[in-house]
Amino acid sequence: MKVPLLGLKLQYQSLKKELDEAVLRVAESQYFILGPEVEKMEKEFCEYLKCKHAIGVSSGTDALLLALMAIDLKPGDEVIVPTYSFFATTGVVSRMNAVPVFTDIDPVTFNISVDDIKRKITSKTKAIVPVHLYGQSAAMEKIMRVAKDHNLMVIEDAAQAIGTQYKDGSFVGTIGDIGCFSFFPSKNLGGYGDGGLVTTNNDELAYMLRIKRVHGGEQKYYHKVIGGNFRIDALQAAVLRVKLPHLDKWSEKRRANAEHYNQLFIKAGLAEDTGRTKFDEKNHVLLPKAIYKTLSQSSKTDIHNYHIYNQYIIRVQNRDELKKFLTENEIGNEIYYPMPFHLQECFAELKYKEGDFPEAEEACKTSLAIPVFPELTKEQQQFVVDKIKEFILKK
Ligand SMILES: *Cc1c(COP(=O)(O)O)cnc(C)c1O
Repeated sequence: MKVPLLGLKLQYQSLKKELDEAVLRVAESQYFILGPEVEKMEKEFCEYLKCKHAIGVSSGTDALLLALMAIDLKPGDEVIVPTYSFFATTGVVSRMNAVPVFTDIDPVTFNISVDDIKRKITSKTKAIVPVHLYGQSAAMEKIMRVAKDHNLMVIEDAAQAIGTQYKDGSFVGTIGDIGCFSFFPSKNLGGYGDGGLVTTNNDELAYMLRIKRVHGGEQKYYHKVIGGNFRIDALQAAVLRVKLPHLDKWSEKRRANAEHYNQLFIKAGLAEDTGRTKFDEKNHVLLPKAIYKTLSQSSKTDIHNYHIYNQYIIRVQNRDELKKFLTENEIGNEIYYPMPFHLQECFAELKYKEGDFPEAEEACKTSLAIPVFPELTKEQQQFVVDKIKEFILKK
């Protein structure tokens, strides 16, 4: 049995007629960049995310870069980012000649450690970039409180989290000052190429985001400030508009698949429950958990902590060998991410060293994504778990 990591062809088959029509509509219009299709898309994202402004941009990376330009980040300013994420989260900070300041992660959620944020704040800190990694919200209540106390901006990297809700039911990307989304084809809502979105409820920031998207001018050829080309194509907008109404249904399927995996792993005797962080003879596989470790008992419930499982991440001790074994058995898998930012060659001059962020380093060594896409079948999931069990029993 073959189990791919993603089912994009199946998704296309299910919406082929509408998608083909949307693509042709753009071709007929010969209106390729921004324009009416993008304006409609922006309005629909505002309604979906319940936010005041949604601005289509050229990619998730550009969403982050534009956000930092919009808050007027200056060379030498410090921006706090988790050391464990996709490279764009930190790369944009360095591209602004600002300094990324790394923090460790929470071992249960893989999201930024709030305690570590507090330790890293200095007089130069300008912003915090929490990442809603794998589709689960970071601890936004605490992060917003820290930001308020120290007068910092919060730029949410929601590239993996379109439709993710925080525990109060609000959509991630609308809680901080600016939210950044990606429509890279493998994200939960993917375009036909690169695309992204920035969101904000702040009118002044929205104005800056809009003009900096088009080289900083309200009027063509007159430049108030310096921006860039961060425009989104009409083609991407047209495709995304077809897919957006299906997103919630896909998220529900991902969540059901994740829950089913949890039960299969427990039934197979490979794990006792979700959210564990230590291996032992009853926990060969550490399962993800959709909840904050930091949630207080008194806070109402966690039911709105809506994890959309952009990835379903397990942890195992012989990760690299398991990866090889699964690949040999035609089961899609991927390591997100094998190396934390603080150990990347390009950041050598920041003088971090191995051991600085133990939780992130451990996650880099043990975590593995297995298929969780909406069209995945129960038979495929059983096969994946059976193969993982076979691998672990062989050890
Ligand atoms: C995908 C991703 C990005 C970048 O998005 P692109 O559209 O590929 O530029 C940024 N941050 C995170 C966490 C991502 O997963």
